[in-house]
Amino acid sequence: MGKNANYKVIIGLEVHAQLNTKTKIFSTESTKFGMKPNTQVGAISIALPGTLPKLNKKVIEFVTKMGLACHCDISRTQYFDRKNYFYPDLPKGYQITQDGAPACRNGYIIVRVKGEEKKIMLEKIHCEEDAGKLIHQEGEMDSKVDFNRAGMPLIEIVTKPMLESVEEVSAFMNEVRKIVRYLEISNGNMEEGSMRCDANVSVMEVNDTQLGNKVEVKNMNSIRNIRRAVEYETERQKKILESGNDVVCETRTFDVNDGKTYPMRLKEELNDYRYFPDPDLSPIVISDTWLEKIKSEMPKLPEELYAKFISNYGLSDYDAQVLTDSKEIALFFEEVCNYTSHYKTAANWIIGPAKAYWNEQDFASFSIKPKTLASLIELVEKGGISFTIAKQKIFPELLQNPELEPEEIAHNLDLFSDMNDQNIVALINELITEFPMKLEEFKKGKKGIIDFFMGELMRRCKGKADPRIAQELLMKRLRELKS
Ligand code: MN
Repeated sequence: MGKNANYKVIIGLEVHAQLNTKTKIFSTESTKFGMKPNTQVGAISIALPGTLPKLNKKVIEFVTKMGLACHCDISRTQYFDRKNYFYPDLPKGYQITQDGAPACRNGYIIVRVKGEEKKIMLEKIHCEEDAGKLIHQEGEMDSKVDFNRAGMPLIEIVTKPMLESVEEVSAFMNEVRKIVRYLEISNGNMEEGSMRCDANVSVMEVNDTQLGNKVEVKNMNSIRNIRRAVEYETERQKKILESGNDVVCETRTFDVNDGKTYPMRLKEELNDYRYFPDPDLSPIVISDTWLEKIKSEMPKLPEELYAKFISNYGLSDYDAQVLTDSKEIALFFEEVCNYTSHYKTAANWIIGPAKAYWNEQDFASFSIKPKTLASLIELVEKGGISFTIAKQKIFPELLQNPELEPEEIAHNLDLFSDMNDQNIVALINELITEFPMKLEEFKKGKKGIIDFFMGELMRRCKGKADPRIAQELLMKRLRELKS
């Protein structure tokens, strides 16, 4: 490896998402988050002698849904392995995980970065149990262990090593979060630890075909930190290669405080874990009927809605992305479009005033029905009510009285305007005659006069003229008078 070579980074991700089943993966213990340490723990999770795990069927249904959403091959026969290792948060001495027969193989997730679409291919999606949690408190000699998390159901999504930038990494994490939320199988909250990510980072020369030595970075709990860690690790490896040395294959941990990665352990050989099928759990067979039942429960997915919004409703990539970001908003928009064919206007209403409301308040507290919003859109499109009036006067009124029709509100508040172009021009002429000095000032180049005339105009028509049209007409008239 020579100095000044051009390098590229190849990243593979392992994303863990905690499933929102009511009970743990192999026991009836509760999965409730934020409870006092060691209050959600029974005999099975801490592996008291004689206890036997029993698989929670929901876990298999959830992972199958994830697999279907990601176009994976669903394994019809699966089993769980024991992955043997010692750690204080793992009282059994092994983790139960699907290794040899994962629930899903292959498949892909589409990401979009700067308008470019890329299929991120998946290696597999499997299910497994989580371990407990060690708590190291500052200034204390002892560490504490909380087993509430032990036995929590997880899915792990493993990509092929093919992501090439931090932008692709964050886009991928975003998509995963969107999909689990649309499927309602996980809340996808990284802050609560419901979604975690490990990244395999290897830097190589641009023309190399063989992947560089791989470093696994662990413990990143936000998209921002994943980006920081990958950026740091890329630079670190580049420097090592530039100095003519080899990158050590190892597992490193990311420190959120200084943004650096630190060595944890050298990469173990795979067989160190002594995987073998757990003899206490029988293999899982997914019958045709079961699979059909799961398929029939699949909700609409972001990718499908994104495609529909672009091809059926003619929206831009940007609008379609914003609208499909959250399931509630996407479905709301789709419903509005059942009642109006002014799709782009509907998108503007949702991305504008409605989203402004949702940014402040709970989605569920939004009282306007899709049909009513569609009526409001139709009312503006018919003419007689400007978008500005509709947004400033009718929309807030509708939020208070969602049972009213927008047209009714417009009548009650006397909002219908006779301010067509002709009447606006008449009013402009009236103002110009009334304020000849202002016109002179404008002719001398004082731009602020436009605001004066606009203000006066909007005041006299009680805000009923469409300000955009009024401004256009005013400018046109002033230009005529100037020349
Ligand atoms: Mn795992």
